[in-house]
Order: sequence, then structure tokens, then C-alpha cells
Amino acid sequence: SENKQTLGFQAEVKQLLNLMIHSLYSNKEIFLRELISNASDACDKLRFAALNEPALLGDDPDLKIHVSFDKAARTITVSDNGIGLSREEAVEHLGTIAKSGTREFFAALTGDQTKDAHLIGQFGVGFYSSYIVADKVTVVSLRAGLPADQAVKWESSGEGEFSVETVKKTGRGTDVTLHLREGEDELLSSWKLRQIIRKYSDHITLPILMKQEKWDEEKKEQVETGEEETVNQASALWARPRSEISDEQYQAFYKHIAHDFEDPLAYVHARVEGRQEYTQLLYIPQHAPFDLWDRNARHGIQLYVRRVFIMDDAEKLMPLYLRFVRGVVDTNDLPLNVSREILQESKDIEAIRGGCVKKVLGLLEGLANSEEAAEKEKYARFWQEFGRVFKEGVGEDFANKERIAKLLRFASTHTDTPEENVSLADYVGRMKDGQEKIYYVTAETFTAARNSPHLEIFRKKGIEVLLLSDRVDEWVVGYLTEFDGKTLQSVAKGGLDLGGLEDAAEKQEAEQAAGEYKALTEKIKAVLGEKVKDVRVTHRLTDSPACIVADEHDMGGNLARILKAAGQ
Ligand code: ADP
Ligand code: MG
Repeated sequence: SENKQTLGFQAEVKQLLNLMIHSLYSNKEIFLRELISNASDACDKLRFAALNEPALLGDDPDLKIHVSFDKAARTITVSDNGIGLSREEAVEHLGTIAKSGTREFFAALTGDQTKDAHLIGQFGVGFYSSYIVADKVTVVSLRAGLPADQAVKWESSGEGEFSVETVKKTGRGTDVTLHLREGEDELLSSWKLRQIIRKYSDHITLPILMKQEKWDEEKKEQVETGEEETVNQASALWARPRSEISDEQYQAFYKHIAHDFEDPLAYVHARVEGRQEYTQLLYIPQHAPFDLWDRNARHGIQLYVRRVFIMDDAEKLMPLYLRFVRGVVDTNDLPLNVSREILQESKDIEAIRGGCVKKVLGLLEGLANSEEAAEKEKYARFWQEFGRVFKEGVGEDFANKERIAKLLRFASTHTDTPEENVSLADYVGRMKDGQEKIYYVTAETFTAARNSPHLEIFRKKGIEVLLLSDRVDEWVVGYLTEFDGKTLQSVAKGGLDLGGLEDAAEKQEAEQAAGEYKALTEKIKAVLGEKVKDVRVTHRLTDSPACIVADEHDMGGNLARILKAAGQ
């Protein structure tokens, strides 16, 4: 017809489609989860819009999702009475990828299918996952508020082009119909679809309806009763009591909100009552997302107000150093029409965020301090994946500095391996008699730290030194100046005063040497001129002839190097 248009997909969509079909086939059932999740989002959006414009709900106020199939036509249809799409919206949302992090995602692709499958899971496969099982998808949608003859029909076989056409549709919302590929007929079964819905979409808060069937003795087959029934539990998982939620349900819910294929590493679910009333269900993933280092990347906390979805990615609910945490916060204390601007200012949100941080720290402490090997192992895994981000908390979250400091893990000369598994408490427990400080060295790499000439005297005396080689470590020790009443001291800074670790004879020997070689040190100083502040005799070296030390209040050599590399 005249109003039919054929358009090309954005290049990224083509790439995504290809990747998806090839790398996600073994997880093909997720297409239904994605379509149901979109239907549920569309209903949430409508409910939200209707707060200001109640007429949008019209005479169809009960939001719901239908799943049906047609054996003869070999199609599956997911329908909702949510917000719907206008023609322009269909072109925009079903022809391009507008997600944040899209560029990072494509940059992170390796071409290795297993690795990329993991990434694509995190990216959120969405609508296009339909093409794992379908060779043609038809979307018919009527945007809430538009007349019936302004509906849109979008269609594509997922090979570079799609068409859009203005059509008629009774009733607002969206029908997504999948025309199944050859060999996917097992999906054309009520039993199979119910099973997938219960597995992946049980926690969706709207009812997901299917035609009811019952066994017909005469025909010896399942026949439709003409009734509909709700397939999912249709209540918010986090709002149910903990005792009624199985571990599997918690895990399935995590996979849904985090777009992850793996189980979470740990989770915590709590209801807070009192001045503030809110529920939190927070998860720590097993693996870092591809955009962990992007400080602008989406945050993982969804905000609900009295069971009504308000927003994804509520960055106000979690500080940056915990940006890997995923989950849901549901509060009774905010208005339903809360905006991001209001959140910025809200004292309630500040209090909720404080509570969420405490819960996450508690969860981590539980793992770190557990007697059980499996839990301790989880903490080690957590540290390996997220330690470098978590460390930022030392500078970012003063209120919890002590708790964060206890959770830090470092490499040290005690084990001399790069593995970061020494806590400050471990270190303090091993301090020598007379040792007053916690010593550390910073360097660009672990090897450089371990081989630093500054360590010679410490090794000789058997004093443990923390070996810091992450970029953020310089920053961490800048904020963390003491632990458990003991000062953190760089071994590369200032005059080396080992305090009670030196005996009188050693001290005397040092002073004597300084006098004896005064002429020599002055001569060297004169030669080096402006390049140095001072030249001293030292007893901190046992094998190396000389080393450079920074003044107590100067930048360390490593920090100076980092700043220089950053162009400062
Ligand atoms: P995401 O859900 O993460 O945004 P999807 O690929 O799943 O990504 O969906 C892309 C977009 O298509 C959605 O953001 C939404 O705008 C639109 N969309 C998909 N399904 C529906 C639907 N059932 N009703 C209304 N809009 C939809
Ligand atoms: Mg989606």
C-alpha cells in the first residue's frame, strides 16, 4: 500500500542480530523472557503516564500480558495493553539500538562466540532475540491515546531491512508475532510455553495469561476450555516474605534484572521499617560487566514506589564504588510521580542509599569473615572481579571508611605472590614487636613493587610490606592514612625511621656513617644540583648501592609517574 515504507536497520542492529542468532542458540528460550519483559515495561510506562493523564487508560484499566500460539500458522504471539508504539517510535525503537554503552559493547566484542555470548547477555538482548527462533517477526501496535486507524505494522525477516505501514488495530498496546523457523515446533505447545514463562518470568508483577486447557477423555488430548488463566505468580518477588522465596526464584529474578546468564555471587533481601519504609533486594554478580570502568555506565538499581516501577538505573541509590550491585529498592515514602531531579534532592533517598550501602557491606563482611571455605572463596572471587572498584570507596564514602578498610585485600611480602589476599587486620596480627606502622610500597607493576630496593632492609629484618601496584592504590593510601591506630607508611618516603624496630647500636652506626661520609654526600649533591633535594647515607639498602626516595610530604615517585602519564 501507499503508506508502506521499507527501511534499513542501523549497522549495529545487523551485527547484533548475527551475533545473537549464532551465539545464543543454546539459550534460545530467553526470547520469551525478553518479549514479556518488554510487554511489562510497556505496561509500566502506561501506568506511569496515566498518573498525569488518566484518560490514557480508557475503558481498559487492567494491564496484562497474553501469550498464545497457532499450531497451523506456526506462530507465537505476545500481546500487551501497555503504552504501545506510534509509527515513528516503531521505526526508532525497533530499527536502532539506543542503549547506553552500545559503543563500549561493540568495542568489547572479541569474535569468540562463547566470550561474546557472555557479553551479549550483559548488554541485554532484548527484542532482537526473537530472531533466534523466528525467521519473521510482525509487530502490530497502537499507541495509547491515538485513534484505531493510526496503528502501525512493523515487519522484518531480520536480514537488514524492515517495513512499516499504518494499519487499524482495536485496543491499545502491542502484539508481537513470531513466525517460527523450521525445526522450532516444540515451542508450539501450551505446556512448553508455560514452563518457559514460569522459569523466566514468574516474578513479572502483571498477570501473564494463556488459554486454559484440560484433558478430554474422548478425544484423548488437551482441549481449550474457553477460559483464560494466569500462568505466573504475578506478585513482586521482593514483596513476598523471604521464607516463601526459593533460592532458584531469587536467582531467576537476578538473571532477569541483571540480564545475566549466570547466578549471582551473593544477595541480600531485607525490609526496613520505622522512619523510612522500604524493601531492598540487592545482588552481587559473579563477573564484572564490560562497562565496569565506564563511570557513566548504567547503574543497576531499579526504583519502585509501592510496587509501581519508577525507573531503572537509579544512580542515586548506590555510590559509584558499588556500581556493580544490581537489584531493586521499593519504597513507600516517595510520590509516584517522582523524577530524577527530585531524587537528587530527596533526604529519603539519601537515607535509603545509606541503608543499601550498609546492607552490601554487611553482605561482603559475611562472606569475608565466614568460617566456611566456600563463602571465603566467594569473597576472594568478589575481590578479584570488583576489588579495584570497591577500593574507590576509601575516598568516596567517609562514613563507612573503617568498614571498607577492613574489607580491603592486598598483596604483600608475606606471600610474595600477586594475589591480593592479605587484609590490614592480617597484617597487624603479624606485626613485629616494636613495629608501629603499616608499611607499603607502590609501583607500576607487582614485579616492580616486589623488587623495589626500598624493601631490602624490611626483608632483612623480616618486616612485612604491602605491595601495591594498582593505579587506584596511590589514591587509596592518600585517603587511608591509618588503620587500627597504626599509620600507613610508604617505605619510599622520608627518612626511614624504623622506630622500635631498630636497636641502639644500629642507630649509632647510622649516625656515625652519616658523619663519616659527609664529604662524599655533599660532593654528590653538588654534582646533581637542582635535580635532588638532598643526598643522604642510608641503611635501608642491603644489596643496592643507591635509591631515590620522596620527601615525606611530596608525591611518591609512582604517583608522579601516573600523573605524568595522564598528562598532568
Ligand atoms: P529494551 O527493552 O532494553 O529497551 P528491547 O530491544 O527489548 O530493549 O526493546 C527496544 C525498544 O522497543 C523498547 O525500549 C521499547 O521502546 C520498544 N518496545 C519493545 N517492545 C515493546 C512493547 N511491547 N510495547 C511498547 N514498546 C516496545
Ligand atoms: Mg527489553
